[in-house]
Amino acid sequence: MKYFILLCDGAADEPLKELGEKTPLEYAHTENMDRIAGGFTGMVRNVPQGMEPASDIANMSILGYDPKKYYTGRAPLELAARNIPLKENDVAYRCNFVTIENEVMKDYSAGHLSTEESEKLVAVLNENTDSGWRFFPGVGYRNLLIWEGGDVVSITPPHDISDKHILPFLPKGELLMVMEKLHPLLRNHPVNLRRRKKGLNEANYIWLWGGGKKPSFPPFKEKFKKTGAMVSAVDLMRGIARLIGFKVMDVEGATGFIDTNYKGKVEAAFKALEDVDLVYIHVEAPDEAGHMGDVELKIRAIELFDKEVVERVLDFSQDKEVRILLLPDHPTPIVLKTHTANPVPFAIWDSRKDKGKRGLFNEKSGKTIVEEGYRLLPDFLFKES
Ligand SMILES: [Zn+2]
Repeated sequence: MKYFILLCDGAADEPLKELGEKTPLEYAHTENMDRIAGGFTGMVRNVPQGMEPASDIANMSILGYDPKKYYTGRAPLELAARNIPLKENDVAYRCNFVTIENEVMKDYSAGHLSTEESEKLVAVLNENTDSGWRFFPGVGYRNLLIWEGGDVVSITPPHDISDKHILPFLPKGELLMVMEKLHPLLRNHPVNLRRRKKGLNEANYIWLWGGGKKPSFPPFKEKFKKTGAMVSAVDLMRGIARLIGFKVMDVEGATGFIDTNYKGKVEAAFKALEDVDLVYIHVEAPDEAGHMGDVELKIRAIELFDKEVVERVLDFSQDKEVRILLLPDHPTPIVLKTHTANPVPFAIWDSRKDKGKRGLFNEKSGKTIVEEGYRLLPDFLFKES
């Protein structure tokens, strides 16, 4: 038996007036998803109550790992995605360059400064902090920090406090001291002098967040007796995959957006299945459309996923023993432009018994609710229904 998990990030939504009280999943033409829904359908809660509805948390559940037990923060997963090892006593943080003016978070991305600019500023961070602090340049404003023997402090992500006064959100102690100490060095750096002259937002502060220690996932192969591979353009997904012992596939032209190389992703998945039991295809585009609040784009992203991914996988599966799990990780409702923790629809299709059947894949069609998302995976792998 081979297994596919087809993940349409953020595709779940709420009924919309402009769609005649239908959700985008209901409204979109998704004949292939509806074929999958000819199997077993239900709703699943991937974000445990009390946790943030973040993609990494939700996808961890889908992979069969209880986030309450295994989630230690976002930064350790990003480090893993970049193959940077984190030691037992160290703490990883995301380090954004941000623009703070008059104690207000003006820009969580420092005007999307370039990677080249960012690299120069990261060098300043490394030169002016002690050796237990190591900063790693990433893409643009998205950098990382390893703090040897550091503390885990929960800090609000900068994109959640846009235009707000920063005082209530500042950390205390050493983290704050380092932020303050680096501020004049950043403000007066040639990179920022140039940006100021051009009227661009300056990278005048660092904002440390997403902190956590190294997570200790039992390998997927030990936990579920299956091997797996990940096809995703998104760092966090690749990070989780590495940490649970999945093979991570590279696909040229995988962008994390609607113009992604769908065919390349599906072909990489088929290739991976020559060696592994399960392949996870993650498509980010519906989530991006949700964040933009663009309903037409979201419908188009869902229809492309249906046609370019689900149909190809169904065609491939007709003459083989295959099970498919289709689902989003969390809703990204158009009206909210951000994630929620509500349950999402799922469908499980089995080539041995569900060929030619038809159902509906949307937020209203599933009756059973799986309250603890991480319990769905063992059912998908092992339960004979
Ligand atoms: Zn997501």
